[in-house]
Amino acid sequence: MRQVRAENAAKAYLCPECHSTIPAGVPHVVAWPHTPPIGATSGLDYRRHFHDSCWQRRR
Ligand SMILES: [Zn+2]
Repeated sequence: MRQVRAENAAKAYLCPECHSTIPAGVPHVVAWPHTPPIGATSGLDYRRHFHDSCWQRRR
């Protein structure tokens, strides 16, 4: 997975780890697969947004 930090999120996202919302403006981790799933053109289409704490617990 590649990951970046989203420091200024413009909208709210749903964290797939805890199934809670990450409010807009809250710094969090964005991760996506290096290689796209079969049939997809880019892994960027599969970005996921995690709370910092959820991402750390996940690794
Ligand atoms: Zn979470």
